[in-house]
Amino acid sequence: MGGGCCGTLVAVHLLRQHHPAHIDMIDERIPGRGLAYSTAWDDHLLNVPAVRMSVFGSEPMHFLEWLRTHGRPDASPDCFAPRKVFGSYLQDVLNDAVRAAAGTCRFRHHYSRAARLTYDGRVARIALVDGERIQADKVVLATGNPAPFSLEPAVPGCFHSPWEPGALTGFDPDADMLLVGAGLTAVDAFLALQAQGHRGVVHCVSRRGKLPHVHTLYRTLPDSFDAAGTGGARGLLRAIRLRARAAEREGYDWRAVVDSLRPVTNDIWCGLERCEQRRILRHLKTWWDIHRHRMAPEIGARVGAAVASGRLVVHAGRLMGVEPDGSRLRVGITLRSQAPLSLSVERMINCTGSDENYRRSANPLLRSLLESGRIRVGAIGRGLETDRHGALMESDGTASGWLFTLGPPRVGGLFETTAVPEIRKQAEALASYLFSIVREPEDVPVDYFLAAGI
Ligand SMILES: Cc1cc2nc3c(=O)[nH]c(=O)nc-3n(C[C@H](O)[C@H](O)[C@H](O)COP(=O)(O)OP(=O)(O)OC[C@H]3O[C@@H](n4cnc5c(N)ncnc54)[C@H](O)[C@@H]3O)c2cc1C
Repeated sequence: MGGGCCGTLVAVHLLRQHHPAHIDMIDERIPGRGLAYSTAWDDHLLNVPAVRMSVFGSEPMHFLEWLRTHGRPDASPDCFAPRKVFGSYLQDVLNDAVRAAAGTCRFRHHYSRAARLTYDGRVARIALVDGERIQADKVVLATGNPAPFSLEPAVPGCFHSPWEPGALTGFDPDADMLLVGAGLTAVDAFLALQAQGHRGVVHCVSRRGKLPHVHTLYRTLPDSFDAAGTGGARGLLRAIRLRARAAEREGYDWRAVVDSLRPVTNDIWCGLERCEQRRILRHLKTWWDIHRHRMAPEIGARVGAAVASGRLVVHAGRLMGVEPDGSRLRVGITLRSQAPLSLSVERMINCTGSDENYRRSANPLLRSLLESGRIRVGAIGRGLETDRHGALMESDGTASGWLFTLGPPRVGGLFETTAVPEIRKQAEALASYLFSIVREPEDVPVDYFLAAGI
């Protein structure tokens, strides 16, 4: 359920096992074109260099080689390709996998949405919004990042996210805009406004008023970060700072230290007490995010120039209220200095990114799964709880034998789980696991084959 990056990669890895199977993918969008890779704008670049974006961990040059044979012969390992190009890559990889497995697997894409999912102890039944019904032995929930936290009150000119239809088009090019948030989503929105000919001032407001850092070329550290004995949030922060200073003395960039945490981030996270995890989310995550989720150099240069020229103004503060003011919006902000700020803007666009609290999810499918106890929210209130394979935990704490997930929902137990390097690993492992537990064909009820038209 869901054919974005995660759904596509699970399908690819299932198909590549050449194990007889019937795979149904449900998504109203083209495979691979979820939130991140469906963007229409060329300026929306990947924030990870091409050499780290292969969908196959065992073939690190796969994406780079694909780029070189698909219109970018000069692509370098350090280049940052447009996200929409990565969407085409995902689609291509899936098409190849479907073709190569044609003798053993049947793959079907249903251009629709899953509305309801039930399980009778043997078979899962999925009702699609167009009335079609599908049965399956195993189901992978791959519906992506949850929608952002809703900013109240909703008045005309306020958009819940930059991806809401009309949020980034049809504006007065000289009018000022307000983006709530200053992370990569706000940067995306700023770039899209610029691409549409916006000439006014774009204001961003976030609690800390910090834009993401920029990628540079640097030497990687020989070893992963050693977090032994660092204790909780405070000790970890101290250790990272010390390591960054020492690394700089040795001629490394601080970015190399941040990257050296990547292979061990989830182990460190899982070893922390819940109260320490909460402390990190409350006090350190914003800082972590701006160091870890960096802008491509060319985007950093454009954003830097816009800040220098006053076209992009970043405020550290808190949104206090918004009300209609003629054809505009009057927005009240309390700055970190406690000084009030009043802005007159044409639009206010929520760029705070996905809301990881699934209890607030407005997605009817997730709501019904939560209400029926088929899934439960992660221990500290974010994401969904799963076992180590991605089997979703039911409300009574048992791991589902038929419903699985990967990627963004797994923030219920992991810290790093949304980027391609993590997703590809989870997708491959989940595909192998599903075949290891799937029932033998003679056990599959006859109505499965009838429903599938076999
Ligand atoms: C703006 C942005 C930029 C990013 N850039 C990078 C990057 O440069 N590098 C990197 O490594 N990572 C990046 N990421 C992170 C990462 O790649 C994504 O989060 C990843 O795409 C998650 O994949 P997904 O399949 O879970 O979600 P998505 O790709 O969003 O797919 C979810 C799919 O589920 C479908 N769906 C939802 N509900 C239903 C339903 N009821 N029935 C059927 N289908 C449904 C949707 O239509 C959608 O296609 C970025 C993320 C975002 C949001």
